[in-house]
Amino acid sequence: MNIVIIDDNAVNAKINAAYINKLDDINSVIFTNPIEGLAYCLEKDVDMILVDYKMPKVNGLELVRLVKENPEKSGVPIVMITSDSENDVRLAALDAGANDFLNKPVDEMELIIRVRNMLSLRSYTLELKRLANFDALTSVYNRRHYLEQAEKEMSRARRYSSPLSVLMIDVDKFKQVNDTYGHACGDTVLTELANICLAELREVDFIGRLGGEEFSVCLTETSLDRASLVAERLRKSIESATVNTEQESLKISVSIGLTEVSDCDQEFSNALNRADQALYSAKESGRNKIVSL
Ligand code: GH3
Ligand code: MG
Ligand code: MG
Repeated sequence: MNIVIIDDNAVNAKINAAYINKLDDINSVIFTNPIEGLAYCLEKDVDMILVDYKMPKVNGLELVRLVKENPEKSGVPIVMITSDSENDVRLAALDAGANDFLNKPVDEMELIIRVRNMLSLRSYTLELKRLANFDALTSVYNRRHYLEQAEKEMSRARRYSSPLSVLMIDVDKFKQVNDTYGHACGDTVLTELANICLAELREVDFIGRLGGEEFSVCLTETSLDRASLVAERLRKSIESATVNTEQESLKISVSIGLTEVSDCDQEFSNALNRADQALYSAKESGRNKIVSL
């Protein structure tokens, strides 16, 4: 877990870091310049922030506001260090989203209790986020999260006039796998399929399970020509893989529908429907193949 300590007093920051570092699996970073600390918190993966209230340029209260108004960071717990006489500040900080407070001078035991509570809160938040966004079987994005990310990616591609392509992937004759070897075997096939796709794709691409044995992939900065090559590579890797399940070693294939998002597409779903039509043609014309539209 990553903890950021922001305090203009370097001695206090180091003492607190030394207390915190006694806990297991903690990585702490100190900033004595609150502006640099804020930039770090907004950019990096941070699990908790310990911030002093009285600092020049940006005080603790402003920092809480600036972090918490950012939707991606609003779940990061913040503990603010204040003195007893600053009750009005504490109320304002609570309103701004601070999670807890510590009195100055900081007592080691109180600090450790706060940190442990905040980190367990953080773990629950991260776990909930994972459950809400990822498919439980295959660990790729679930339908809702995939479509949300795809909409964002489409707006980004429009803004920068960059190409964006979409694949629809469907396992061929998957019902036969279930009927012949059982549902558990079918599940292993889906997990393996997702793993093969993840291994083939770049980090900037993303894959979602739209339902059943149907997946979709967004290829960023990718025009139709290049996307066809990626799709062909995926198709071949899947065709040549052997899926080892508890009972059997299986061979599977997929059909892929492919399209590039165009200026006429008002929403991502327009492009996705086109990829789905292309997938339907791939199925109709024999399976284990790619069709673009
Ligand atoms: P096609 O080549 O035309 O795509 O044929 P298909 O058999 O793959 O397609 P169909 O839509 O007839 O069957 C899909 C099957 O996928 C039916 C359903 O029981 C199965 N399925 C859906 N979700 C899951 C799942 O989570 N696990 C398993 N094991 N099977 C699933
Ligand atoms: Mg199928
Ligand atoms: Mg299907």
